[in-house]
Amino acid sequence: MARGAVFLDRDGIINWRIADGYVRNALEFHFLPDFFHFLLGVRQLGLLAIVVTNQQGVAKGLMTAEDVERVHEHMQQELVRHVGFGVDDIFVCSDSAESQSRRRKPEPGMLLEALQKWHLDPRNCWMVGDTITDILAGQRAGIRTILISHENVPIADFHAPNLEAALTIIAAHQTVPAPYHNLFHRNAG
Ligand SMILES: [Mg+2]
Repeated sequence: MARGAVFLDRDGIINWRIADGYVRNALEFHFLPDFFHFLLGVRQLGLLAIVVTNQQGVAKGLMTAEDVERVHEHMQQELVRHVGFGVDDIFVCSDSAESQSRRRKPEPGMLLEALQKWHLDPRNCWMVGDTITDILAGQRAGIRTILISHENVPIADFHAPNLEAALTIIAAHQTVPAPYHNLFHRNAG
């Protein structure tokens, strides 16, 4: 089976979302406390971590594409500092909700781009997000979905109250021999 990935929504999954607003600079970007452990776990399972984020604040003129890029540079630097590595790739859609963009979630454009770019097997991929928009995008891209929410949205394949629970779900369904398993067997022997 080809390589797999965990697609990650950004705001509300990696960092605190700003209610009715946008993360416009590094000072407004605050990691959610359980993301570091989650990213480590994803890497240990042999999966890529790929961010897919809607940032229509750019289309609205509230920030520039360069602002978003600088936020992501900051995010990656902080991840390297805390975890030792950053996410593997970042896809941004800065189109407005009215644009009918095929890239903007709930459309699957960004995910399809990533599947092709990284030669991923959709059967070994997951979308993890905190809104129904993320879940729809994952389903339209043909991958499994995990909703991180206390609300019950029945369309998601799985629900998890937090990222730790999501990682447990992903690990339980991981069928590809991964470094994690090899380590386990070595230690057990
Ligand atoms: Mg979100």
